[in-house]
Amino acid sequence: MDLQLSKRLQKVANYVPKGARLLDVGSDHAYLPIFLLQMGYCDFAIAGEVVNGPYQSALKNVSEHGLTSKIDVRLANGLSAFEEADNIDTITICGMGGRLIADILNNDIDKLQHVKTLVLQPNNREDDLRKWLAANDFEIVAEDILTENDKCYEILVVKHGHMNLTAKELRFGPFLLSNNTTVFKEKWQNELNKLTFALNSNPNSKIEERAILEDKIQDIKEVLDES
Ligand code: SAM
Repeated sequence: MDLQLSKRLQKVANYVPKGARLLDVGSDHAYLPIFLLQMGYCDFAIAGEVVNGPYQSALKNVSEHGLTSKIDVRLANGLSAFEEADNIDTITICGMGGRLIADILNNDIDKLQHVKTLVLQPNNREDDLRKWLAANDFEIVAEDILTENDKCYEILVVKHGHMNLTAKELRFGPFLLSNNTTVFKEKWQNELNKLTFALNSNPNSKIEERAILEDKIQDIKEVLDES
């Protein structure tokens, strides 16, 4: 039976190069690898999962879809799920915080040497993830943004390379800034509303805290005004 992916994972799947040998870190139910194999977009995948419950669920799903010969489900922490002999060329890490994704990459950075493409979908702290990528000789080659169930998600497609990002690009995303889509504007309008509410509802907060909030608000206003 064909798997119906969430809109978020469907978008991530679109950025996985055709014919990839994939590692999906934090695969949970292994939905993404199952979909990619079913569609013929991927030849081989490892579904890596560090927690036993989701690992068992990934094992069961892969088996029920008849894909045990093409998807290896491994109980493993981060990038320890693969060895050089697996010839992994693409890694997806989705549905985690930006800092956790950066930590996972940082913990085994040497293993990324032969990996060509990273497709990362942080749930928050995208700025910290971009900072880590820039500092470690990675380059963002595409970005996407979507909403699903009232939540906003960003996707970063990454290759080895160099990039110099301004503070504004780190926060808003270089491609997201220039593409300036409706979803992007909605995300930052919501953030602006939240920060303005926080500022106004704490009139007695410390001057330094107010200054930080005011700077953040000003940056967002500038970006929204440019659109
Ligand atoms: N990637 C799926 C998605 O986007 O729908 C699942 C996201 S779920 C919120 C995060 C999963 O990552 C959990 O199943 C968690 O156990 C797993 N995880 C967290 N840290 C991990 C790590 N260091 N290595 C492997 N899996 C990890």
